[in-house]
Amino acid sequence: MIAIVYTKPECFSIQDVQEPKPGPRQVMVRVKRCGICKTDLHIHHGRFISQFPLTPGHEFCGEIVEVGSGVAEWKPGDRVTCDNTVVCGCCYYCRRNQPLYCQNFYSLGCTGPGGLAEYALVNADKAFRIPDHMSFDEAAFTEPLSCVVHGVDMLDPKCGDKVLIFGAGPAGLLLSQLVQHCGAALVVVVAPTQFKLDVLNKLGVKHTVLMRRNDLTSHVEAVRALAPEGYDIVVDATGTPQIIEHAFQFTKMGSKVLIYGVCNEEDLIQVKPYWLFRNEIKLIGSFAQTHCFDRAISYLDQRVVCVDGVITHRVGLKEYAKALTLLADGKENLKIIVHPTE
Ligand SMILES: [Zn+2]
Ligand SMILES: [Zn+2]
Repeated sequence: MIAIVYTKPECFSIQDVQEPKPGPRQVMVRVKRCGICKTDLHIHHGRFISQFPLTPGHEFCGEIVEVGSGVAEWKPGDRVTCDNTVVCGCCYYCRRNQPLYCQNFYSLGCTGPGGLAEYALVNADKAFRIPDHMSFDEAAFTEPLSCVVHGVDMLDPKCGDKVLIFGAGPAGLLLSQLVQHCGAALVVVVAPTQFKLDVLNKLGVKHTVLMRRNDLTSHVEAVRALAPEGYDIVVDATGTPQIIEHAFQFTKMGSKVLIYGVCNEEDLIQVKPYWLFRNEIKLIGSFAQTHCFDRAISYLDQRVVCVDGVITHRVGLKEYAKALTLLADGKENLKIIVHPTE
């Protein structure tokens, strides 16, 4: 089968590799869609939790073509979206029911073979049925939306909260819709690309503010005017340390600040401990997800979270290099979807 294979960071090719065989309690999935995101860029550079050699692709769905021994619940032809996380169940954190902190955390597409291949192996309990009327395009958003579901769990928003989100990439688009559904009185999204804000408006997020990429002052007044007392929740969905530092000024006493975007490991931010202390600011991190797929599918199924107009580019495996260039630039694209088998 054809697959993207990295031998080491920044060094990949399209290779004809041995087709995998499902082991006990595994299913083999013919990959129909695999979304890519900034995490794949971090992986490309050998950052994040990546391990090599690697076939990336952590946001994928498709059709089961073969099941391993002991799999009674799936059959060939079933349409599934795949939870890429695998936890060991027996480490310190797993045994404390904190599976996301698993000391042997394994992630298809990050530490082991993922969906940028014609076929992928998935544990039977990590495949989730795609509702009949849901397209593979929509189902490809299950993984990013699952991470957002976990992010909102971490945030624990309250009724009437005013929420400010920096970033209108796919994460910001999903987060803003979900947080709006979870009781926010006001959701404001700030980003430097008008077409992304237009997509958000169409998806029902009314308050968007355009910022200038190299001028962090031009939008301040407009953002303040929407919530003069400050925001209950401020989210960074950009992964840019300068934006995180900038975002602090829009908090008020008791605010929560969520670090959602993936920064580089060596990035630093400056924050005054006295300010955190005096204002009881809660600084919250949110990393990936486990066990959120079922809820993410429900949100997509009920169209609480819509992804209409979010896919801006489609590529085959052969165009992966081009897709990475688009991702790195970021201005022209929202979701880039790879079609490994069509
Ligand atoms: Zn992703
Ligand atoms: Zn574990």
